[in-house]
Amino acid sequence: MLLDGKNSAKEYEDSLRLKIDQIKERSGRTPHLTVILVGNNEASKTYVSSKKKACLRVGMTADIRYLEEDTKEEDLISLIESLNRNDEIDGILVQLPLPKHINESLVVNTVDPLKDVDGLTILNAGKVFTKTGGVAPATPKGIMMLLEKYNINVCGMHAVVVGRSNLVGLPIAKLLNDADATVTLCHRQTRHLSTFTKSADLLVVAVGKKDMITKDMVKPGAIVIDVGINRMGGKLYGDVSSEVSSIASYFTPVPGGVGPMTINALLHNLLELYEVRHDC
Ligand code: NDP
Repeated sequence: MLLDGKNSAKEYEDSLRLKIDQIKERSGRTPHLTVILVGNNEASKTYVSSKKKACLRVGMTADIRYLEEDTKEEDLISLIESLNRNDEIDGILVQLPLPKHINESLVVNTVDPLKDVDGLTILNAGKVFTKTGGVAPATPKGIMMLLEKYNINVCGMHAVVVGRSNLVGLPIAKLLNDADATVTLCHRQTRHLSTFTKSADLLVVAVGKKDMITKDMVKPGAIVIDVGINRMGGKLYGDVSSEVSSIASYFTPVPGGVGPMTINALLHNLLELYEVRHDC
């Protein structure tokens, strides 16, 4: 069965729109997101435009700051600091990856944690990891929302996550563990990867390699979440081979699975941060 991220995101958007209307009625304004894009990466241009459009669809506002590829690190940091001080801006998102000459960690951690819609600052990550609040990064949060939408309870399942980045693999392993799955986290140094993937009730793959997971590596009846996005010849592919859909009980398509839910989770993070800052 397809885990339809596109339609699930639409349903979540409908309920968000109602909440945003109420906020507008109460306060006369709606949450505002500022997205910063440095450079000319074509995929990043598409992502930032989708994020802005999603904000507008639910009645929030958004703007994109386009900066040149050779923008100096200190200029980017000054811009973020001025956005941090601006009360009209409720969320700040720096589109990654940044050009090589810019220290990504320094930039990400310049964002005020109370405006960090991506949940990537050290403070937010620490809060999520210690279960003391904070906003979770959008992709892992979107995956959990998608599972919830389909009433999939991961409690007691063996969840195997392939990939351990701060953006996806590590935080989704944490969220699944918090939801009482037993989690195995795999990476490049994992020996006999298929031994682990084959034992998974729930398999999450976030690597960035087309056909990384083939049918013989998946247990029949497993739930398969494909996070990967690989662009080839103008088309998008995930990390999981298409034949896996014939044996999985549930699977996410690429595109139309995790991607739309990621953007939806971002909107939820923006609303959550707005509510915390405005005490509502
Ligand atoms: P990273 O490159 O940061 O991490 C990739 C991970 O995969 C690493 O942990 C790496 O292990 C692991 N890996 C690489 N090769 C292997 C291998 N042969 N066997 C096992 N593990 C391996 O990528 P991200 O986490 O940022 O993104 C992963 C994918 O998800 C990409 O395709 C990206 O485009 C996509 N993505 C999709 C999103 C969406 O909204 N759908 C959002 C964010 C990302 P090690 O740590 O040992 O190097």
